[in-house]
Amino acid sequence: MGFFSKDIKSLNDLFMHGLQDLYYAENQIMKALPDMIEKATDAQLRAGFEKHLAETEGQIHRLRQVFELLEAEPKGEKCPAIDGILKEGKELMGEIDDEDVMNVGLVAAAQAVEHYEITRYGALIAWAGELGRSDCIPHFKANLAEEKATDLKLTALSERRFNPEADKKPAEKAKKPARSKNTARRKTPQRATAAKAKRASAKKTKRRA
Ligand code: FE
Ligand code: FE
Ligand code: FE
Repeated sequence: MGFFSKDIKSLNDLFMHGLQDLYYAENQIMKALPDMIEKATDAQLRAGFEKHLAETEGQIHRLRQVFELLEAEPKGEKCPAIDGILKEGKELMGEIDDEDVMNVGLVAAAQAVEHYEITRYGALIAWAGELGRSDCIPHFKANLAEEKATDLKLTALSERRFNPEADKKPAEKAKKPARSKNTARRKTPQRATAAKAKRASAKKTKRRA
């Protein structure tokens, strides 16, 4: 592409490009989700994906409303980023046999998608503000809120993995003696590191005193 053939000449062009990019991305995500639902064996993960599929449909509808506000035809612009993220997720799913590992892989793949969406909605909100198109912002914000909520839910699901007790059936749990207060919060790698740092800094303060 030569210098004179560049299509994005203004912030407004960049805004339109971003909108079309995200419109394409949301449509690709909607096509990818049924496969992820099928692969998810964890009930909560599956329910989460099902909910987000319905939300994604609504998000596409909101983006169509933005096109309408801008008096433009809803049009997608190929987004290589979402194509890559979805392709990577699909390839990963093809490599995993174990159900538990599959669920963990699905969470990570889905979070990559949500994080991409979050950055793009953030940019569109900022650009719409700068361009004086505050009428578009509530639509973007509504979508962004759903992406962020989904991301948080996925984080909670992955953290639950560090506490396998939460997943055990009541009968299985009953066999084990009740845990004392101290061990109720099972150590995760993060918590262990945090505790270590706390001990180190306490030592330092002691030495200084
Ligand atoms: Fe979305
Ligand atoms: Fe993109
Ligand atoms: Fe999403």
